[in-house]
Amino acid sequence: MRVLGIETSCDETGVAVYDSQAGLLAHTLYSQVAVHADYGGVVPELASRDHVRKLLPLIRQTLADANCTGEQIDGIAYTAGPGLVGALMVGGAVGRSLAYAWNIPAIGVHHMEGHLLAPMLETEPPDFPFVALLVSGGHTQLVAVAGIGRYEILGESLDDAAGEAFDKAAKMLDLDYPGGPEIARLAERGDPDRFRFPRPMTDRPGLDFSFSGLKTFTLNTVAEHRGDAVLPDEQTVADIACAFQEAVVDTLVIKCRRALDQTGMKTLVIAGGVSANRRLRNKLEAALARQGARVYYARNEFCTDNGAMIAYAGCQRLLAGQHDDLAIRAIPRWPMDTLPPLGNPDAPKQ
Ligand code: AMP
Ligand code: ZN
Repeated sequence: MRVLGIETSCDETGVAVYDSQAGLLAHTLYSQVAVHADYGGVVPELASRDHVRKLLPLIRQTLADANCTGEQIDGIAYTAGPGLVGALMVGGAVGRSLAYAWNIPAIGVHHMEGHLLAPMLETEPPDFPFVALLVSGGHTQLVAVAGIGRYEILGESLDDAAGEAFDKAAKMLDLDYPGGPEIARLAERGDPDRFRFPRPMTDRPGLDFSFSGLKTFTLNTVAEHRGDAVLPDEQTVADIACAFQEAVVDTLVIKCRRALDQTGMKTLVIAGGVSANRRLRNKLEAALARQGARVYYARNEFCTDNGAMIAYAGCQRLLAGQHDDLAIRAIPRWPMDTLPPLGNPDAPKQ
């Protein structure tokens, strides 16, 4: 089965063609970062308008890159939620309409399920069951995954998502949006011993997260060290970025180990934009090796939003016979544990 995947839930327009036999045939991504740069965050109306401008040309280009025509597509998968409603409507309207025109099934995919399954696109994919740490700009969740659609939320953030915390801390340090990669880059030059930031909610049991206190701590540290200037000196900014990253990474590592202990599982999957963070990957790899467990993640370009993960997730559901009716689906808030399960999780992957 050959599936066209469309992602438009936030500020990236992503398109891909995934073939259940041949694998990923092509994928393209257009980032709106420059559109939103002056505003320090995503402006929903601008996001929708830019998806309208970019989506059809990207679909044409991706089909050409995959060396196939519309007639060779067997199904369409588009992100139906969660996300910005206007942005979702663009991908949903285009995806559903193309499916109608080509007389093929369409399915609305859960964006976080897409992230969660993105490591399946790699040459050495993880086997079920596993614990997934979903860390993106909008979500921070620990999920026990028994198979596709068989999700139990073990813990989640009570306030800011991990990626959001990176973005807000970056703003305090006058770094560009998105802030995660900027903090990671600066942290390499920082002194890890100069500041010690709190590891929130790690001293009590449970698998929930909270990053808002860390944000306040960062703000106070910046204020204490800037004197009469707008910002502290360059080295102090790097030291703060380093301390902040260490605190987030340690907090995530502690909770991941706890989730593996609690479930008795030996496989951890990390997904979402923050899973591109090298320090997080390295610390998890070291910590998990000590308990005989292993961590899996997607290549960097499939950690952040992309069409390939949507094409893959949609293909698995379409192969199992699931598809939507003619309605265009846009579900801004959509709990992942309400998704329907997918047959036998032990069946061989296609
Ligand atoms: P997503 O919502 O999955 O598209 O991921 C975007 C989020 O991931 C943003 O909040 C980014 O700041 C964050 N992010 C991307 N790369 C990194 C990185 N290397 N380290 C930390 N956060 C990152
Ligand atoms: Zn995302």
